[in-house]
Amino acid sequence: MLSITHKPIIIVGAGPSGTTCGYLLAKAGYDCTIIDKVRFPREKTCGGGLTPKAHKLVKDIFGDIKYDYLPVKRLEFHTAKGVFAAFELDNEIRNVAREDFDKVLLDKYVEAGGKVITARIRKIREKDDKVLLTMEDKQILSCDTLIGADGANSFVRKYLRLVYPKTLLMMEKKNDDKSVRDIVIYFDKKYDCGYTYVFPNMKQTIVGYGHLKATINEFGEEIGRFGLNPEGKVKGAYIPAFEKFRYPFKKNIILIGDAGGYVDSVTGEGLYYAIKTGQNAAVSIIEGRDFKEVNKDMIRRVKKLNRVARIFYNRLFQDSFYKICTVKSLHPWLTKIANYYIAK
Ligand SMILES: Cc1cc2nc3c(=O)[nH]c(=O)nc-3n(C[C@H](O)[C@H](O)[C@H](O)COP(=O)(O)OP(=O)(O)OC[C@H]3O[C@@H](n4cnc5c(N)ncnc54)[C@H](O)[C@@H]3O)c2cc1C
Repeated sequence: MLSITHKPIIIVGAGPSGTTCGYLLAKAGYDCTIIDKVRFPREKTCGGGLTPKAHKLVKDIFGDIKYDYLPVKRLEFHTAKGVFAAFELDNEIRNVAREDFDKVLLDKYVEAGGKVITARIRKIREKDDKVLLTMEDKQILSCDTLIGADGANSFVRKYLRLVYPKTLLMMEKKNDDKSVRDIVIYFDKKYDCGYTYVFPNMKQTIVGYGHLKATINEFGEEIGRFGLNPEGKVKGAYIPAFEKFRYPFKKNIILIGDAGGYVDSVTGEGLYYAIKTGQNAAVSIIEGRDFKEVNKDMIRRVKKLNRVARIFYNRLFQDSFYKICTVKSLHPWLTKIANYYIAK
């Protein structure tokens, strides 16, 4: 029987974008290696909110996999004056602890036959149609296609071109308090495209904050101002919002997830975009199609959300938003919009 030998593929980064792409490739018989600088399970600064569209996508790709989550159906919006709107969602948001969720996806990839190497990439170069990666220990690996799934500070992206979008700095603290079981969002007109939030999951409660001009001092002040639990160590990370896709799209080097700037600049949601672009990269390789073509809806969507974010966080719009939200008769309509937004 004739067996097809696929050319080797390396994915840098074992977050959800990398493992989704790797899982689909390994299942299709590709020689696939994921390289991550840390051994899993690893800590990840993230609210861990899987929206209905994200957990549906996880199910479509990985089938009925088991992962721990806290189902949350109530979403509260606050200002410093208190709650100004609360919505009961039709479909739950699943709040996961990222260290556990990411390990579940990585295990599925390994089960499908994928290889994992724990190492940090130090150098990338191209020679005779091959992409060569030099590790910290000077070992060199070669592949035909390289996938950059290495997050918001992507090394692969730096190799392609050091053009980063204007990024949102986010900070978080984790505590053991389980008294709040809803998602709570705190808005304030002083934030430049961002918010403060409480995201509880099965293991802990995450208190976070971020916007384009976020500072560690202001985070402390906001925790005090909103009366939030001050426990926990502050950890910071970037969300690559407001992407303009000014890096080159190459056939043999593909950026997915945060590395490619695929996030919703209104909400900061990135998990759906990471998993979807991971799937699109795998489809483009398996079907021999151009990634930019397969992924065109994601690019269009991210650009559109960038424009929506600029309007949503505009001071004048924020004023009207708070006022509209306090009109009780508009709540069914607002709930419909919230449901639609997180589901589609
Ligand atoms: C504070 C905060 C809260 C968030 N909350 C939410 C939320 O509630 N819901 C949501 O949908 N999204 C949220 N996001 C966004 C979400 O976390 C990201 O969009 C998502 O993790 C992107 O997945 P990824 O696979 O692209 O990258 P990552 O999950 O960041 O994975 C990248 C991997 O690459 C590895 N790596 C990096 N550099 C190298 C290197 N040089 N060599 C080898 N390996 C390397 C890292 O170790 C890491 O494991 C949040 C983000 C932040 C910062």
